[in-house]
Amino acid sequence: MEFDVVVVGAGPAGSVAAWAAAEAGCDVLVLERKAEVGVPKQCAEGISAHGLEHAGIEPQDEWIATEISRALIYAPNGKEFEVPGDGYVLERRVFDKWLVVRAVEAGAEVKLLARARRALVDDGRVVGVEYEGVDGVHEVRARVTIAADGIESRIGRTAGLVPPLKPTEICTCAQYEMIGVDVEEDATHFFVDAEFFPGGYFWIFPKGEGRANVGVGIRGSESEPGDALKVLNRALEDHELISEAVAEAVPVEVNVGGVPVCGPVGRTYGDGILVVGDAARQVNPVTGGGLHTSLVCGRIAGEVAAEAIEEDDTSATFLKQYQDQWKEEFGRMFKYTLKASKILSEMSNEELNALAEALDREDILRLVKGEGVVKVAKKVIARKPSLLKYAKHLMK
Ligand SMILES: Cc1cc2nc3c(=O)[nH]c(=O)nc-3n(C[C@H](O)[C@H](O)[C@H](O)COP(=O)(O)OP(=O)(O)OC[C@H]3O[C@@H](n4cnc5c(N)ncnc54)[C@H](O)[C@@H]3O)c2cc1C
Repeated sequence: MEFDVVVVGAGPAGSVAAWAAAEAGCDVLVLERKAEVGVPKQCAEGISAHGLEHAGIEPQDEWIATEISRALIYAPNGKEFEVPGDGYVLERRVFDKWLVVRAVEAGAEVKLLARARRALVDDGRVVGVEYEGVDGVHEVRARVTIAADGIESRIGRTAGLVPPLKPTEICTCAQYEMIGVDVEEDATHFFVDAEFFPGGYFWIFPKGEGRANVGVGIRGSESEPGDALKVLNRALEDHELISEAVAEAVPVEVNVGGVPVCGPVGRTYGDGILVVGDAARQVNPVTGGGLHTSLVCGRIAGEVAAEAIEEDDTSATFLKQYQDQWKEEFGRMFKYTLKASKILSEMSNEELNALAEALDREDILRLVKGEGVVKVAKKVIARKPSLLKYAKHLMK
């Protein structure tokens, strides 16, 4: 089998990349190991309105569970911050399918139950992948391979671009979708507490009529396998604010998964290959959000792959444009949110409470977006000199 572009993974990054490349006239094959795109979801399903707009995706009623107008962030001592901002909680099972259908309508072919096993490397360049389908093992050759195969990224690894994740670089997550959750439904809710949720946070993202994604992410270095689910259950019982919100709630779904919080890999391109989305660790390390970045980087990857085919140059030198373009969009954000995430994950509850006293909602937004963080650092030094060592690190 021979294609212009083979995309591994029909998550948001892969489907958007396939959509863009097919729309530009390429022959595209998408390989997806699952039987059903978007299922099971491994996501709290939140995205900002700006994120969708930036990706050029028009919001559709069919995949929006609820609209959000603000985030409420709770410090360990219960102090509440309201950060205004429009966004959505999605239905990923519908959203992911909608995206892959866009790729198919643009001309891409999709193979389900097709697990890519390794990148085919010929004289240092990637020339396609080997995959295992329902009818055995096959090779598919392509001029450009796009590894959009999520956090494990077998293809990124076997192509030599994606190193293994260290426990400090990952948040392990556990989530229930629950019914009967009692929270304000126009807001996403974030609970920070270094003792309950070391190196991470707890969230409640409402989906309307009492339904919500209720989950937690904790730093891999602070936990053993299976701990995230225990922490989730403990918080539902013992955390004052959370236990109140879920007192009458019942889980209808369990979701587990990992989020890379180390910032993008150093090189997301090579001869004949691009790496995108969670595979490239294009995730905001403060929030663990990867939808906005996956969608935008996926589109850039698909467009650059199509230009490479058109120009008949799929060398690393040509494909580097992809990395240049996504860095233009997100380079600064990744740099500063990585610093902020490291600092936040080291703080004790006392320090987090002090930070909460020093900051206002605009500062929180700056930390989350990685914009104007030096300004935030200066304010922290002026208001809470005890946090000097953290603020200095942010300014470097
Ligand atoms: C619990 C949790 C909550 C989250 N909440 C949010 C949130 O609220 N907002 C947000 O923005 N982000 C959130 N994220 C992160 C977000 O889900 C990811 O960043 C996003 O899904 C990345 O998209 P992707 O296409 O890169 O990867 P994925 O969505 O992981 O898609 C990768 C696809 O590749 C397929 N695949 C993997 N290996 C192979 C293979 N070898 N062969 C073929 N197919 C393969 C997988 O089956 C999958 O379909 C959350 C993550 C977790 C774990």
